[in-house]
Amino acid sequence: MEIEKEMKKMTLGHEFGAGAACLKCKDKCEGFELHFWRKICRNCKCGLTEHDVAMNSEEDKKVGKLFEDTKYTRLIAKLKTDGIPSYHGSMVTITLPSPATAYILPPSASSTVVPPSATADSVQPPGASTGSTPGNARPQPQVHPVPASVAPVKANKVPVPVSATSANLVPVPKDVPLKSVTYEWAPPVANKHLAVRYIELLPPEKRPVTGTEGAAYRRQQMARQLPEHDQDPSKCHELNPDEVKQMQQYVRRYKDEALGVGDVMLPEEMALVQAGGQGGPGGVGVPPGAGGAGFGPGFCHHCQQPMRLGEPAVYAERAGYDRLWHPACFVCCTCNELLVDMIYFWKKDKMYCGRHYGDSEKPRCAGCDELIFSNEYTQAEGQNWHLKHFCCFDCDRILAGETYVMENEKPVCKPCYMKNYAVKCSACQNVVEPEAQRVSYGEHHWHAEPQCFKCSGCAKCLMGQRFMALQGYLFCSVECKKKTIA
Ligand SMILES: [Zn+2]
Ligand SMILES: [Zn+2]
Ligand SMILES: [Zn+2]
Ligand SMILES: [Zn+2]
Ligand SMILES: [Zn+2]
Ligand SMILES: [Zn+2]
Ligand SMILES: [Zn+2]
Ligand SMILES: [Zn+2]
Repeated sequence: MEIEKEMKKMTLGHEFGAGAACLKCKDKCEGFELHFWRKICRNCKCGLTEHDVAMNSEEDKKVGKLFEDTKYTRLIAKLKTDGIPSYHGSMVTITLPSPATAYILPPSASSTVVPPSATADSVQPPGASTGSTPGNARPQPQVHPVPASVAPVKANKVPVPVSATSANLVPVPKDVPLKSVTYEWAPPVANKHLAVRYIELLPPEKRPVTGTEGAAYRRQQMARQLPEHDQDPSKCHELNPDEVKQMQQYVRRYKDEALGVGDVMLPEEMALVQAGGQGGPGGVGVPPGAGGAGFGPGFCHHCQQPMRLGEPAVYAERAGYDRLWHPACFVCCTCNELLVDMIYFWKKDKMYCGRHYGDSEKPRCAGCDELIFSNEYTQAEGQNWHLKHFCCFDCDRILAGETYVMENEKPVCKPCYMKNYAVKCSACQNVVEPEAQRVSYGEHHWHAEPQCFKCSGCAKCLMGQRFMALQGYLFCSVECKKKTIA
């Protein structure tokens, strides 16, 4: 039943992104048009993410589907309308008094929502009333799905510096700016200070701030690390019922055994939770041992450097909470990239991104980029290929039993090679066939034969000899050079 359903769904979404301009090729691409089985544009051969397509809702659906039927369903919200689960990890605007790091994170508060103005209230000197009375409903942190800019906004309430004693002496400053930053994604923790500190600990060019290089990096990694066609048979090309079944089993297995999403916490807070025994960072007393002289946050599982108290760390349930990572160290063991949105695959003591977990389990077709669930496939040029996908990159002709040439690590058929890539012999002016031996020197090429690779002065064969090359001419000696070029 399930398989039939998947088979029916298997019409590729060829309409998505259609016509979008390529950001890399500009006018040279007529607009995105999905190749019928490669995951690239037919016109310019770039990927979908290189084209100007708003990916957010598609990405959210993809990640939603990834976590469907897993224990991480808290990350997704079922959409009532079409039943497609959606991820709500994206786009949050966090407003904090600037700079965020000036605020100390009280460990006990890091699991509760601390709206910026509530923080301000709590250190408000008595008498300096702002009109709100304790116990009133506090304003919620600003989390709204609009791509706001990074421009600072004025506070309508006055945040007070952390030191309450100085606040008693110093007149309450007016117009202290609140810094409001929109992130494409931020860790889903209640304490916004902790979330912002986590992001600050990432390399600047990888921070997912809307409209920056970091946001583009996240988007690119979202496509690269979590290929839709690694999780959804309907995104694959022409699977047969057996392949669909194999894929469904594979997906079920990684959802049960490997897939997870990181948790951001302070090490000292995690120590309390762990010592407390029963999960949930809610009710914590001071457990014996923790907080005492013996407690240290330990070492990062990736770089082996010490973790720091007061700085957020990443934990992974699958790895066990005795392991922890620096935010910038929570990377895939194969590509070394930050795990996008902290989505990980844990296997044999190693952290993988989705793509490289897949590669560790199954061969991947270098033609269509899908994992291969069929027993029959071919290996060529150090890569794996579906039998029907070892094709010319330019004209899609099947290359089994044909002469082909590797150009830019892509196989091309001989006719396409002769038309698009072959070089001319500087001596006889004929195209050098792919099978022919050739000599290249700078911009120039010759048939590696006596009648072509010879001295332009005395016609002596230069194969295996010292030679001089000048403007496509070859010489055995200075004398021959002088004789030929006046
Ligand atoms: Zn294109
Ligand atoms: Zn392009
Ligand atoms: Zn580290
Ligand atoms: Zn990877
Ligand atoms: Zn393939
Ligand atoms: Zn071809
Ligand atoms: Zn020649
Ligand atoms: Zn000569």
